[in-house]
Amino acid sequence: MFTMRFPLYLVMLLYVGAAAAAPPQPLPATRIAPNTYVLYGHIAEVDTHNRGFNGNAGFVVTDDGVVAIDALGTPLLGQRMLATIRQVTGKPVKYLILTHNHPDHSYGAVAFKDAGARLVAHAGTRDYINSSNLEGSVAFRNEIIPEDMQGFRAVPPDEAIAGPLFGKQVFTAGKHRFEVYNVNHHHSFGDLVIRQLPENIVWIGDLAFNGRTTFMGDGHSAATLAGIDWLRKTFPDAKLMVPGHGQAQEPPFPMLERTYSYVQRLRDKMRKAVEAGMTLEEAVGQCDFPDWQKVRLYEENHKKNCNFVYQEMEQEIVFGKQ
Ligand SMILES: [Zn+2]
Repeated sequence: MFTMRFPLYLVMLLYVGAAAAAPPQPLPATRIAPNTYVLYGHIAEVDTHNRGFNGNAGFVVTDDGVVAIDALGTPLLGQRMLATIRQVTGKPVKYLILTHNHPDHSYGAVAFKDAGARLVAHAGTRDYINSSNLEGSVAFRNEIIPEDMQGFRAVPPDEAIAGPLFGKQVFTAGKHRFEVYNVNHHHSFGDLVIRQLPENIVWIGDLAFNGRTTFMGDGHSAATLAGIDWLRKTFPDAKLMVPGHGQAQEPPFPMLERTYSYVQRLRDKMRKAVEAGMTLEEAVGQCDFPDWQKVRLYEENHKKNCNFVYQEMEQEIVFGKQ
């Protein structure tokens, strides 16, 4: 019998060895412009089916290496994204630019760092790395997809973007320029928008969502509105906008209007609730948007958003804080 000649533990060792040696598989990539690719993630929360591939990322092949924008949601996905890049070019990754610190966009960064890329991220990423939010969300992913999280480590930025709101810093690679704009703290510990030139493609991160309900866990609703307004005014001539979730869009970028009106409506509804003296529970209980119920992640996110914005409105109205 086979197991008599090869004891079970040896067979298992061989199996584990073979699994560890299997190269990370490439992911499907969509070419949206010459030398420009998007990896579209599932529109869902992280689960054992999508394995944390629930946000978008992309990359641009320049004359002077690759520039990646976001790194997907686990170290394994970061490696799979690198394998995807390797299918297109043998050039090294020069920069990885993170739109923000949320796990679905940033937990693959370790693979890029280990491959020699310089990490460009908002200065707030450092605060995130030192926060309990990081511990909590790493523990959450370790519960669901521990194998994919193997080798995780938080990577601080090599180039930390700060400075004035909507100010920019420019990174060049070959004939390409990447204008990296500081849009500050609207959705995370610090958000960036990237304009890729000469193609005039704008990577907007989670400033607006296409085909799903937004999530307002640790941002500011007023800053979200100001950010979308700025986006509309600053890039009306962009060829494409690539969101962190959902398909890239052409002008006039309906996702901007749609996200704006959702957030505005939440603020109005919760402001009225606070002014009427409702408790948090009462306010959230009557915070349904029937016309949004069929939009993906409404069930998962909407009540949390109501809860979050109620507390913002309470701060603004009762305590006079912005
Ligand atoms: Zn996201």
